[in-house]
Amino acid sequence: MADRDGFIWLDGEMVPWREARVHVLTHTLHYGMGVFEGVRAYETADGPAIFRLQEHTDRLFRSAHIMQMKIPFTKEQVNQAQVDVVRENKLPHAYLRPMAFYGSEGMGLRASNLQVHLVVAAWEWPAYMSPEALELGIKVRTSSYTRHHVNIAMCKAKANGNYINSMLSLSEALSGGADEALLLDPEGYVAEGSGENIFIVRDGVIYTPDLTSCLDGITRKTLFTLAADQGYEVREKRITRDEVYIADEAFFTGTAAEITPIRELDGRIIGEGRRGPVTEKLQAIYFDLVRGKVPQYAEWLTLAK
Ligand code: PMP
Repeated sequence: MADRDGFIWLDGEMVPWREARVHVLTHTLHYGMGVFEGVRAYETADGPAIFRLQEHTDRLFRSAHIMQMKIPFTKEQVNQAQVDVVRENKLPHAYLRPMAFYGSEGMGLRASNLQVHLVVAAWEWPAYMSPEALELGIKVRTSSYTRHHVNIAMCKAKANGNYINSMLSLSEALSGGADEALLLDPEGYVAEGSGENIFIVRDGVIYTPDLTSCLDGITRKTLFTLAADQGYEVREKRITRDEVYIADEAFFTGTAAEITPIRELDGRIIGEGRRGPVTEKLQAIYFDLVRGKVPQYAEWLTLAK
């Protein structure tokens, strides 16, 4: 990743990719206190467009507020930085990674002497899920790791350290032959995937866990709008793992995962064992709208050219 041409926005400046470095005593590297976003720009007829840029920037600032990290830039500057990195790197489509982190101004757990730095990188990331996964669905295993307790990590923050739990659960799922993990909350109810929100469909109604211990996903929110516009009811409620086993359909949502059908959980086939009709319909609209093909949702796109 470090050795390539291009530019990274770092603390207000475009820095050549290879020179965008930090010291080994960078605080966030040691304790994981930092906040970030995963944002995507899609290729549209008018050029690359960032999907729901403002919502991602708003969440970054909310995450920073929770972590008491003061981002030394305005939201407008952070939006502009994201547009600029896509443009400067001449990317037709991109994954964007804004991150606020503590520098190497000091060690130890007292944050008073530390400075908050901000980086925005963008690169072409091949699909997170394979084309087959998006069409046929993926195999998921309930994780032996529990999702964060609300008083252990802050679930509303997209914080660096939270992803230790995600990486442990994903690697466990992968080594067990599954494609993704399903994490339960400390009370045993369905929370989310390692980097996705989860939905199930039963008798034409769409259900998803409430936000207590999952991330307030931007794709999740998008799904609410799409589903409502298609006449589906979406209910937020506590969901048990066996409700997923007997669902007609299940799918994950996320910036990287987009809308990915789940065909199997813990060896139980879900529904017909492939992408169901509700999932297929919503996924098709999603794929079109992010590429600027649905005028109704054009306001969610910010051109980066
Ligand atoms: N949950 C977790 C833990 C995630 O990392 C992500 C990805 N950001 C999501 C859910 C989905 O959020 P979004 O739709 O905003 O990408």
